[in-house]
Amino acid sequence: MSTNFLTHSAYINQPNHYPNKACRSTDIDGESISVEGAYAVQDVSCNECGTQWKDTFKLTGFVVTELPSET
Ligand SMILES: [Zn+2]
Repeated sequence: MSTNFLTHSAYINQPNHYPNKACRSTDIDGESISVEGAYAVQDVSCNECGTQWKDTFKLTGFVVTELPSET
């Protein structure tokens, strides 16, 4: 079963966002993202073949968008 799926690096680098080598459908739905510490997870599913998986995201930094107010 697992031989049908892309490696992690191949999955990250391919633009069409499908993990299943046998399907390659781009009819993919993503649920809302939940953040857990420095990581986030998104449930994803393919409407074509029924594969379900989780995309995992890692925190890479931050951007200040408002400075603290002066007292
Ligand atoms: Zn599929």
